[in-house]
Amino acid sequence: MVAIVALFFRVTKLVIKRPYSFKHSPGDWLFLRIPAIANYEWHPFTISSAPEEQDVLTVHVRGVGQWTNRVYQLFEERKARALSRVYDKKSES
Ligand SMILES: Cc1cc2nc3c(=O)[nH]c(=O)nc-3n(C[C@H](O)[C@H](O)[C@H](O)COP(=O)(O)OP(=O)(O)OC[C@H]3O[C@@H](n4cnc5c(N)ncnc54)[C@H](O)[C@@H]3O)c2cc1C
Repeated sequence: MVAIVALFFRVTKLVIKRPYSFKHSPGDWLFLRIPAIANYEWHPFTISSAPEEQDVLTVHVRGVGQWTNRVYQLFEERKARALSRVYDKKSES
């Protein structure tokens, strides 16, 4: 995963490195697995980036159930860790 961005209404934008030679058309969807959430669960999401985008793929995940809400939580946890690192650095200097 390249980036994870929380939007309104428990929607999380996931930016994923595009696999080499992966091609898609508008409206295509993919199955996504995030081992940090569940090792054997695959969930379908529509690809929201343009097919012309060379390096990354994006999907927008709305938190509606256990797995999709864990995606949102994952962002919150990463943000909290990043903020605490910034705080630690500031208190060291
Ligand atoms: C082809 C396809 C493309 C999709 N694209 C997106 C997308 O771009 N963004 C996005 O946020 N979601 C998308 N979804 C829905 C997404 O896959 C589900 O919301 C997710 O898998 C739910 O997992 P969960 O464990 O969080 O919730 P669950 O606990 O499994 O479900 C929560 C609630 O959503 C309902 N639900 C779950 N899956 C579906 C489904 N497939 N169709 C209708 N209702 C469902 C359940 O009945 C329940 O009421 C897509 C689904 C399909 C089939």
